[in-house]
Amino acid sequence: MNTTPDVLVIGGGMAGIVAGTIAAENGLEALVMRTGQSATAYSSGAIDIIGYPPEGLALKEYFPEIELPFKTPIDGLRAILSLYPFHPYGIIGLKAEDNESIEYVIAHVSESISWLKERLAGSCAALVGDLDRNIFPITALGTTKPTCLLQETMWSDTLNAHPDNVLIFAGFSGHSEFDAQSAMRAYLESQLRTGEFPHKIGHCEVEIAPFGKPYNISSIELARHFDHEGSVDHLTSALKAHVDKLGATHVAVPPVLGIEQASQNQAQIQKELGVEVFELISLPPSVPGFRLQRAMDRVFKKAGGTLLIGHQAKSATIKNDMVESVVAQSPRREVTISPKTIILAPGKFIGGGLEADETGIRETVFNLMPVTSSLYSAEDVRPTNHTNVYSLSPDGHALFAAGLAVDMDFRPIDADGIEHARNLYCAGSILAKYNYSMEKSGLGVALNTGFAAGRNAVKMVREAS
Ligand SMILES: Cc1cc2nc3c(=O)[nH]c(=O)nc-3n(C[C@H](O)[C@H](O)[C@H](O)COP(=O)(O)OP(=O)(O)OC[C@H]3O[C@@H](n4cnc5c(N)ncnc54)[C@H](O)[C@@H]3O)c2cc1C
Repeated sequence: MNTTPDVLVIGGGMAGIVAGTIAAENGLEALVMRTGQSATAYSSGAIDIIGYPPEGLALKEYFPEIELPFKTPIDGLRAILSLYPFHPYGIIGLKAEDNESIEYVIAHVSESISWLKERLAGSCAALVGDLDRNIFPITALGTTKPTCLLQETMWSDTLNAHPDNVLIFAGFSGHSEFDAQSAMRAYLESQLRTGEFPHKIGHCEVEIAPFGKPYNISSIELARHFDHEGSVDHLTSALKAHVDKLGATHVAVPPVLGIEQASQNQAQIQKELGVEVFELISLPPSVPGFRLQRAMDRVFKKAGGTLLIGHQAKSATIKNDMVESVVAQSPRREVTISPKTIILAPGKFIGGGLEADETGIRETVFNLMPVTSSLYSAEDVRPTNHTNVYSLSPDGHALFAAGLAVDMDFRPIDADGIEHARNLYCAGSILAKYNYSMEKSGLGVALNTGFAAGRNAVKMVREAS
C-alpha cells in the first residue's frame, strides 16, 4: 500500500467513492478507506436529488404556490438555491459568476448524473431517470416517494399509463420484510384517492425456500438465492398461476431479484410471462442499496483506486495549515498515511463521522467544529435540543441538518470562517445545512459534493506539482 497517495478519502460511501473515482480517473493515486458499512449500502438505492425542502411540507405555509413534492429535480434545485443559499447545492453554486449560480448548479448536477449513469451502465445497479422529472416509484409499504434515479429493475414506465392495467403485489411466504396484502391496500387507497391508474390491484404470495429455508427468510437470502442459475424458474412458474388468474399486466415484487442477476432475472420473468415485473423500494437493510455500494466500489477499483476496508482514520496532524498525516487503525495494525490532499466523507451519525452525547456533537477524526442547522457551533448543544417530540414529525429533526460548515471549495471552516487546513476537503452527509431525511436528497448531495470535492482535490494536487 502506498502511504503517500495524492488523495486520501476517509469514508467509502457514495460521496467518498465518487470523490476517489474522480481523482483516480484524473490519473492521481487515490486511496479510499472505509471502516464499516455505509448509509449508502443501507439506503433504498434510489438516488434522490431533491424532492422536498429541508423543513418538509412546513414551507408551504409561507409559499403556498410551491408545488410539493417538487415535480422535477430542476424545480427543486431552483427553490433550494433561492431559499437556502448555504445548502450544499448552494455551496456548489458559489463558484459561479454573479447571477449564474442556479444554472451553474443545474449544469453541475446534470453532469454528475450523466457521469454516474455512464459508470453504472451494465452493472448490477444500472440507473434510469434524469433531471427533467422526479419519478414516483412504489415502496414496500404501498406508498410512493419522489426520486431522480432508480435502478432499472425498480421502474415501470407503463404502469400508470393505461386504465386496463392490472397490478399484482407478489410476496414470499416466510419473508417477513414485506407484506403484499398491506402494500396492495395502501397503494389501492392512494390510487382511488388520486384517480390515477391502475385501479385493478391484487396480491399474492409465492413459496420459495432459499437454501432449503422456508421461514425467517431475509431479503438478502432471497437475492442470493436468485443469483444462482435456474433459481428464478420456480418463481416464474409460481407467478404464472396468479398472473393468469388475475389477468395481470404488471407484477411488483420486493427488491430481491438478485444481487448480481436482478436484471437478467427480471428479463427472463417478463419474457416468459409476458408482463412487466419490477422491484419495490424497500426499508433498510435493502438489497438495492447493497447493489449500489458494490457497483460503486467496482467503478472506483476499475479507475485504478485502492480501497481499504476495515481501516478507520483515528487522528491527524496538521502543520502550517496543511494536514501532514492521518493515523488509521485496522484490525491488525496502525498505519500512518501522508497524503497530499484529504477528502473527509465519513457520513453523519450512521457512518460515524459525527458523534453525539449529552454534552454536544463532535467530529471524530480532526475535531472540527460541527454546526447546527442555524450555523451556530453544535459542540456544546445537547442533541435532544434539535429533535422534535414526535419521532416521525412531518417537520423533521434539525439534528439531521447539523454537520460541518465549508467554504466554496468544500473545505471545513472554523468559527471565524477560516479553513481548518488548505488540503482538507469534505463531502457527503457530514455537511451541514441540509436534511436528507426530509428533503429526499441524501445520495444526490453525496454524489454532487463528492464530485465537487474530488475535482477540487485534483486541482490542488496538479497546481502543487
Ligand atoms: C435507511 C436509509 C435509507 C435511505 N434512503 C435513501 C434514498 O432512498 N435515497 C437517497 O438519496 N438517500 C437515502 N438515504 C440517505 C443516503 O443513504 C445518505 O445520505 C448517503 O448514503 C450518505 O453518503 P456518504 O458517502 O456521505 O456517507 P455513508 O454512505 O454513510 O458512508 C460513510 C462511510 O464512511 C465510513 N467512515 C466513517 N468514519 C470513518 C473513519 N474515521 N475512517 C474510515 N471510514 C470511516 C463509514 O463506515 C461509512 O462506510 C438513506 C439513508 C438511510 C440511513
